[in-house]
Parts: sequence; structure tokens; C-alpha cells
Amino acid sequence: MSDFASRLIAWQKSHGRHDLPWQNTRDPYRIWISEIMLQQTQVATVIPYYQRFMTHFPSIASLASADEEAVLTHWSGLGYYARARNLHAAARQIVARHQGVFPASVEAITALPGIGPSTAAAIAAFAFGVRGAILDGNVKRVLTRCFGIEGFPGDKAVEAKLWTLAESLLPEAEIERYTQGLMDLGATLCTRAQPRCGDCPLSAQCVARRDDRIAQLPAPKRKKTIPERQTVMLILRRGNEVLLEKRPAQGVWGGLWSFPEVAPEAVLNSHLQTRFGVQAARVAAMSPLVHTFTHFRLTIRVLVVWVNKPGAAAGAMWLDRFDAHGAALPTPVRRLLDLLD
Ligand code: SF4
Repeated sequence: MSDFASRLIAWQKSHGRHDLPWQNTRDPYRIWISEIMLQQTQVATVIPYYQRFMTHFPSIASLASADEEAVLTHWSGLGYYARARNLHAAARQIVARHQGVFPASVEAITALPGIGPSTAAAIAAFAFGVRGAILDGNVKRVLTRCFGIEGFPGDKAVEAKLWTLAESLLPEAEIERYTQGLMDLGATLCTRAQPRCGDCPLSAQCVARRDDRIAQLPAPKRKKTIPERQTVMLILRRGNEVLLEKRPAQGVWGGLWSFPEVAPEAVLNSHLQTRFGVQAARVAAMSPLVHTFTHFRLTIRVLVVWVNKPGAAAGAMWLDRFDAHGAALPTPVRRLLDLLD
């Protein structure tokens, strides 16, 4: 076994994480849900969502038979909603193609919607003891530092090199502990800022530490300016109620409930009349909200519009503004609801 693997395994035994709610189980369903939730999301944020999700959808069958609205509602606030839609689609695929039994091979797991090769390998290791390499953001950071790998890890050539390296380091046995050890080390010691090298089991062999290059590795992506977009949201109010509209399945916040959007150049009163059959009794502007997506930054101008009569439109509903929190909402809509007086 490589020094790298044996040190990591020994460290995981004594210093790794052992009591997270998705550990100490071989249930692939529980492991799968946790792995998807943990993508781009911190453990502390995930735990309450995970526990609520597992209470509502305790099995593949219950997730597959739920409607998408319910799944999105229980995901609401975690962000990256494609993850929830893919989970739901994958559960249905497992029922349809695998008789409801989670597949055990990395290839079959990777064929499910929303599961990349690293996540598939992690699930296969934890649930079935299958030997395979993982390579998420944390692991890329550990490997680039420990082995002094140059270049941005998201570049194809660098990533290919990291996969080869990750596969060459795999131990013959104890794959679960090794995989968990890599994850734990990346999350708790070899953090992006101020890694705790003094406590690290790999410090004796770490190139970045030896060459004083920790701040330069992994190399950052070449900077691109992020595009700016603008929109206007209308918070239609009638007494304590607000109007929410279901967004189309495709596109930003697909399938979630949102305040209606209007083009910045639209004439407000004629839009209200045509779209909802209402007229504004009073209009007030709230401070704009800025929401950053992976690929662009959205500035949301917000108009609060009080109306006198209950206009309606297909795909829209009036809800008590406190009850509205129970709907599947994108984060900015939730923030705006909190800001209403
Ligand atoms: S010695 Fe420091 S930089 Fe190197 S792997 Fe360990 S924590 Fe990361």
C-alpha cells in the first residue's frame, strides 16, 4: 500500500469523522442522498436538510412516488435545484430499470441522472466496498498540494492527470476508510485557507508544504468577468396575501414558485391588467437584491404592488405570506418574503 494511503487510513481511524447522520450504514439510498446534498454545500448546512428529507422520503420507493413539487419543497433553500430534480428522476429510473434496488457497480450508478464518476465511486465504496477513485473539489486540493500538481484542476489535461494519480494511490483494502479519510482531510485539515499542516498525516511528503507553495496550489482559474443580468420582480399584495407564480420547468429556478417577473421596460399598469386583471392601488420600490449564480449575476429590482381585487392568472396563486414559506421557493424569493413588513 502507498504511504499516502496507509497514513490516510490510520489518520481516519483516530481523527476522521465517524458520526455523521449518513455514516455507519451500508444503505446506498442514505449514502446517495448525502453525497448529492454535500456537493457544493457544507456538512453543517446539510445535516438538518438531510434529516428532514429522510423523514419525508425514507426509501427509493417513497422518493420515486412523490411528486416533484414535494421533492423541491424539501430541497428549498439548499440551492442548485437541478440536484433535486435529478434525484427524483434517478429514483424513478431505479424503480423502472433496477426493480427498485440501487445498482452496485460504478458504471450503473454513473448512468443515473445527476451522478458523476466521483460521486458514483464514493457511493459504491461506502455502500458496497467497491474499489474506485474519487475526485471532488476537496480531493483535488489535497492531491495538487501533496504532489505539487501545477495548473487549474478544472482544465481537462490537469484533471486527467489527477484521475490517474488518484487511481494509482488506491489501497487494496479498506477502501471505505480511505475514501472517507480523503474527504475528511480535505474538509477539516487541508482547507482552502489556513490548512492545519501541523496536524496533517501527509505533511512529511507534502510538496506544497516543503516548497512553501500552499497559497499557490491548487492554481486558480483564469479570471473571467461574470455577466450581469437584470430583472424586475413584482410582489403583488392583497391584505396579508402575496401572489406566487410557478416558473416553467426549464430555465432558472425551474418548477419553483416565485414572484412574477416583468421585463424592465414593461409599462406596469398595462402589464398588471393584461397578465393578472388587476390595477395597482399603491406601488413602492424595495432595495434591489443581488443574487449570484455560477454563470451570471442577477440584480433584482423589486416593486411591491398593493391591489384591491383578487386578480388571477394560470399557474399563479395567492398565499398567506407566512404560509408561502412552505412552498418550493428560490432563495431570493424567500429572502424577499422575510423582508416584507
Ligand atoms: S501538509 Fe498541509 S497542504 Fe499538505 S496536504 Fe497536509 S494540510 Fe494539505
